[in-house]
Amino acid sequence: MRFQLTASGETDVGLARKHNEDCFEIDPVRNLYVVADGMGGHSHGEVASRIAVESIRDYIVEEGADDRPAADDEHHLLAHSNLLRKAVRTAHDQVLQAIQQNGALQGMGTTVVGVLVDRDIAAVAHVGDSRAYRLREDKLDLLTQDHTWVHEQVLAGYLSEEQARVHPLKNVVTRALGSEKDITIDLQELEVRAGDLYLICSDGLTTMLNDQEIAERLRAKKSLKTICRGLIDEANARGGLDNITVILVRVDEA
Ligand code: CA
Repeated sequence: MRFQLTASGETDVGLARKHNEDCFEIDPVRNLYVVADGMGGHSHGEVASRIAVESIRDYIVEEGADDRPAADDEHHLLAHSNLLRKAVRTAHDQVLQAIQQNGALQGMGTTVVGVLVDRDIAAVAHVGDSRAYRLREDKLDLLTQDHTWVHEQVLAGYLSEEQARVHPLKNVVTRALGSEKDITIDLQELEVRAGDLYLICSDGLTTMLNDQEIAERLRAKKSLKTICRGLIDEANARGGLDNITVILVRVDEA
């Protein structure tokens, strides 16, 4: 690893919900970062997001070691992103299996964003409307495309980004783990650079703060923990209508 990664994460129930159906994981040994935002009646969203996060972590822990001694860089890259894809696929199967075993869980599902860093590559996998961003040289880039009905309207030119962000149907996701038999996982490989700051978050943050407001807070020269807390406090100050989860990962030269 040419880089040293530092991470901080926090989740908060918000001010309007009884349960926190978000779940997150930071694994500093494997450089794995996962956020999942569950949905379903009663508290079943909590079940779905926990299954997803735990099964992704377990898969990477169990299978990850076998992928290490790849022959060359190209094979290594493939092994690395395939590992994350398979982990998310397995998480989907686990959520489906839990529903099959307990009919009461019917209808539960979860979003997921997983980031796995190895050498100088970050593999990013996602399903649903949780997001990954990267702040590089003070410029914030959204790395993921929401799998939502409103985002489809943005792509078609019917809604602006800002209209979509506050739209009454903004919570309608078009893809989620556990929601259908087959799942399409968006996967990308990104070059990692010293100075990068990654943000992985649930929509409880991005529906309360827009990208510009998030960028301002990420640019502040404060500890990751302080920035995480500040983002959550601000989402709550604006009403905290949903559960809020934030992971920050900073990349430094090793
Ligand atoms: Ca949410």
